[in-house]
Amino acid sequence: MSVHNDSFLNLSPYFSQENFRAGFSLGSLTYSSEEDRKHLAENMGLMSKNLVVPKQVHGNKVQFCKTSGELSDTDAIISNSENVVLSIQVADCIPLFILEKNSNMFGLVHAGWRGTAKGIVTKTINEINKYGRSQKDIMALIGPSIKQCCFEIGPEVADEFSNDYLVQGSGDRSFLDLQGVVKNQLKNAGIQNENIIDLDECTCCQPDKYYSYRRDGNRAGRMIAVCGWI
Ligand SMILES: [Zn+2]
Repeated sequence: MSVHNDSFLNLSPYFSQENFRAGFSLGSLTYSSEEDRKHLAENMGLMSKNLVVPKQVHGNKVQFCKTSGELSDTDAIISNSENVVLSIQVADCIPLFILEKNSNMFGLVHAGWRGTAKGIVTKTINEINKYGRSQKDIMALIGPSIKQCCFEIGPEVADEFSNDYLVQGSGDRSFLDLQGVVKNQLKNAGIQNENIIDLDECTCCQPDKYYSYRRDGNRAGRMIAVCGWI
């Protein structure tokens, strides 16, 4: 369903709202500098001057954004403004896109294991509910991220999650289904099953398409998730 061109995945069709744009950069372009991020927004038909750029810290702070600009120490951003374009960067962590159909509320969450263990998804939906109109209209899309096939973790990380989302590996290692944890938080926060879309794309498995911190280490590039109203 998504349109695959050279530079980004067009995720807008999943949301079926004429003026809403959502996209995710691909590994073919680095989008490392601020200028690159602006370029991506413009390519998607969004105004780069409206970009919100958070400094991500694997925390669980949710920020309601009324204006563009840089934010300190924030991993979830929400807005209802047509003058705000949300952006985050990831390289294995889940980019979670949120849109409440029939209202202007939208959001982006950087959901790695740390933020997810701290309940960032639950917190974001609760925050959206303060401003939104109808919880049954909230859609959530889980973007390309490291999946259970590749997400091997040690016992200290496994301790943070229910066994329902772990598969035993060798020794004390296990494999985490982080997308499953995120879906569970969404459902428990009242999001309807049919409104949760999982792209089912593993960043670590597909070197031709995505960067992966797990696969490439410190030299891994980053991918940018962007969404907003045109
Ligand atoms: Zn994989």
